[in-house]
Amino acid sequence: MSTYDSAWFPCPRCGAASEHGFVASFNADRLVHRVDEILTGAFERVRCGSCGVTFQLEHRMLYAHATAGLWVAMYPCGERIHADEIEPSVRAIFERRLVDVPAFPVPAIRGTVTRVVFGLHALAEAIRAAGVDASALECLKLELLRDHESMLVAAGAGELCYEGEAAHVLRFGLYRLDGIRLGEMTAGRGRLDEIAADHARWRDEYPDLFIGLYVSALRYCDVLAPQPQYG
Ligand SMILES: [Zn+2]
Repeated sequence: MSTYDSAWFPCPRCGAASEHGFVASFNADRLVHRVDEILTGAFERVRCGSCGVTFQLEHRMLYAHATAGLWVAMYPCGERIHADEIEPSVRAIFERRLVDVPAFPVPAIRGTVTRVVFGLHALAEAIRAAGVDASALECLKLELLRDHESMLVAAGAGELCYEGEAAHVLRFGLYRLDGIRLGEMTAGRGRLDEIAADHARWRDEYPDLFIGLYVSALRYCDVLAPQPQYG
C-alpha cells in the first residue's frame, strides 16, 4: 500500500512556503506508472507561486518494490550529513517491517536489497542499478571523481549517479549535492568488471563501501562536497 501526506515546502530560491501533497510510502508494485516519473526526475516537481521556479519536493519516502526485492529509504539531500545516525534507524525499521508486514513475500525478503539514499536522483539510481554490483560501482565512481576532481569541483558537481549502460559504456550523471543535474560522464564497463573481480583489495581500501545501507563514494570524498547554491 502506498501512503500520502502533505506539508509546507519552502521554495529553494525565494523561500516562499507552499503546501503540497506528497507520497510518503511508495509501493512500486502498485504505482508502476509513477516509477518512470522518478527515473526522469519529473516526480513531485512543483512551481513556486511567488518566483516561478520549479523544484522537487524534498521529503522522506519509503520506496518498496517487493517483487523486485528492493527497499529504499529516501531522505532529503540536506540530511546527508546525518547519514551515520539515519543508517541504523532505517535498519531497525526494515527489520521490524519484515516481522510486522506479511505483505513482503518470504522469497523476496531473502534477496531484498536495502538502501539509504539522499535525493530523488539517488533513488532513481538505486532503481536503475538493481542487479549491478553496488559496492564496485561506488569504487568506480570514487576513481572517476578523483580522476576528474578539479573539473568536477569547478563545475560545482559533488556526486555521480549511474544512469545506464549501452554498448559496454556506463553513463553517469554529474549532480550537485542538492540534486541538480549538471551533465554526464562515461566509463568503460571493463573498469567496473576489474573492480568487481578484485573485491578483497577494494574492500580493504574502502571498507565503508562494502557495509551498511548508505553505500556512497561520498563517504570518501569530503573534498567534493560544495554547499548547495541556488540560482
Ligand atoms: Zn520561489
